[in-house]
Amino acid sequence: MPKNQIKVLDLTFETSIPEATIQAEVKRIADEMNRDLVDKNPIFLGILNGAFMFASDLFKQITVPCQITFLKLASYEGTTTTGTVKQLIGINQELKDRVVIVLEDIVDTGITLDTIIRQLSGYQPKEIIVATMLHKPDATKMKVTLDYVGLEIPNDFVLGYGLDYNGYGRNLPEIYTLVEEE
Ligand code: 5GP
Repeated sequence: MPKNQIKVLDLTFETSIPEATIQAEVKRIADEMNRDLVDKNPIFLGILNGAFMFASDLFKQITVPCQITFLKLASYEGTTTTGTVKQLIGINQELKDRVVIVLEDIVDTGITLDTIIRQLSGYQPKEIIVATMLHKPDATKMKVTLDYVGLEIPNDFVLGYGLDYNGYGRNLPEIYTLVEEE
C-alpha cells in the first residue's frame, strides 16, 4: 500500500489535506474570530461527534472571554410523514440574547446545519454565527450562511480530523479522501 494511503475497515483512503494545512486554517479562523468577537461574550456550540477536534483546536486559540458546550443531533423515526426527525439535544445553557457560534465538522448538503439553526433560533439567541472546518460547495443545496470556512473540498467522502467511517478514523490528524475502486 502506498505511503499516503490507509485502509479503514473495507475502504482505502489517501491523504488529501495535511495536518499543517488544517492547523493553518484553524489559526486563520481563530485570528479572525478574535478580531470579530471582542465584547460579544460568545458561546461556542460544538456539534458532536465530528466537530470535537476542530472545536478543541480552535477554542484553544480564542483569546476573548468565551464559553463552550457540545450538542448532539439525535435521529429518531418520527411519526410524521417526513420519516426521520433530527433533534438537537444537550442544550442546558441559557442561549437567549447570547452570540452563539455553531462549530461544524463539515457542511455537505447543508440539511444538518439548516436543522440546527432552525432549532437554535427557538432559544432566541442574539446572533447565530456558523464556523465549519470543511465545506462541499457542490453538494450544498440548502441556503445556509457560513461565516467562517476552513477549506472548501470537492464532493468526495472524507475522513479524519474528527470525521469517521463507521466510527473509525476520527483520530487521524490529517484529512483523507476515499480512493474509488477500479
Ligand atoms: P449535511 O447535512 O450537510 O449533508 O451533512 C452533514 C453531516 O454529514 C456532517 O456533520 C457529517 O457528519 C456527515 N458528512 C457529510 N459529508 C461527509 C464526509 O465526506 N465524510 C464524513 N465522514 N462525514 C460526512
